Amino acid sequence: MPAKPAACRARVAAVRALAPAILEADLTLVEPPVLAFEAGQWVSVPFGPKLVRAYSIASTPRSPSTLTLCADVTPAGLGSRWFRTLTPGAEVEFKGPLGGFVLGPTETRRALFVAEEIGIVPIRAILADLAERGDYRPATLVYEAHDEAALVYDAELRARTREHLGFAYHPSVSRESGLAAIVDRLVIDVTGLVAYVAGGEATIARVREVLMAKGLERKSVKREKFW
Ligand SMILES: Cc1cc2nc3c(=O)[nH]c(=O)nc-3n(C[C@H](O)[C@H](O)[C@H](O)COP(=O)(O)OP(=O)(O)OC[C@H]3O[C@@H](n4cnc5c(N)ncnc54)[C@H](O)[C@@H]3O)c2cc1C
Repeated sequence: MPAKPAACRARVAAVRALAPAILEADLTLVEPPVLAFEAGQWVSVPFGPKLVRAYSIASTPRSPSTLTLCADVTPAGLGSRWFRTLTPGAEVEFKGPLGGFVLGPTETRRALFVAEEIGIVPIRAILADLAERGDYRPATLVYEAHDEAALVYDAELRARTREHLGFAYHPSVSRESGLAAIVDRLVIDVTGLVAYVAGGEATIARVREVLMAKGLERKSVKREKFW
C-alpha cells in the first residue's frame, strides 16, 4: 500500500552544487523522523494557499531519515529562490510522499527511462533503488541535457553500466531536444516494455507518440511532467 502523504519538518544537512545552476540538498527529517516512500515519488513545498512547488526525491527508500532533493534553479521563480536559500541547519517544511511515477513491486517488464534535463531526478532514484534491491532487469536510459555540466549524475550512471550488464545508458548533449528521435532509433521492439518519461510536456508527448507508433499502449508510458 502506498504511504499516505504526511506534513514533514526537516533540517538541511548539506547542500552541493552539481552544476552551476543545479543544487542538491540533503534534508534530515525531524518530524516524522523517517518517511516511507517509493523511489520516484516527490514532495510538495508550500509557499502559500494553493501555492506549492514539487521536488522529486533523488534518494532511495533505503535512506528513510534523510531525503535528497535536486533542483535546476534556472527558472528563478519561487521554488528556485527557495532552493537557493537552503543552507545547513535551516529548517524546511513539506508534504509527502506524493505521486505514482514509480516502478512498483508487481512491475516485471523491462524498462525504458527517458529523462529530459532535471527530469533525471526521479529516474536516478528508481535506478538506484533497483540496484540496491539487486533487481538487474534489462533497462535502458536515454538522457539529454543542454550541456555536459547539466548532465548531472552522469558518472554514477556510467558506473551503473559496469555493475548492471543489462543496463544501457545513452547520454546526449543538445540544445534542442532530440530525445524522441533517439528513442525512435533505439527502440525496435516494444514487447514487454514499460516506459518512464520525465521532463517537459512537449518532449514527453513526442516520446509517447514515437512509442505508441511502435505499438506500445498509452498506459505503458508513465509520465512525470516537470514543466
Ligand atoms: C511532480 C513534479 C516533480 C518535480 N521535481 C522536480 C525536481 O526534482 N527538480 C526540479 O528542479 N524541478 C522539479 N519540478 C519542477 C518544480 O516543481 C518547479 O516547477 C521548478 O523548480 C521551477 O519553479 P520556480 O518557482 O523556480 O519557477 P516557476 O515560476 O514555477 O516557473 C517558471 C517557468 O519555468 C518553467 N520551468 C519549470 N522548471 C523548468 C525546468 N527545469 N526547465 C525549463 N523550464 C522550467 C515553468 O513551467 C514556468 O513556465 C517538479 C515538478 C513536478 C510537477
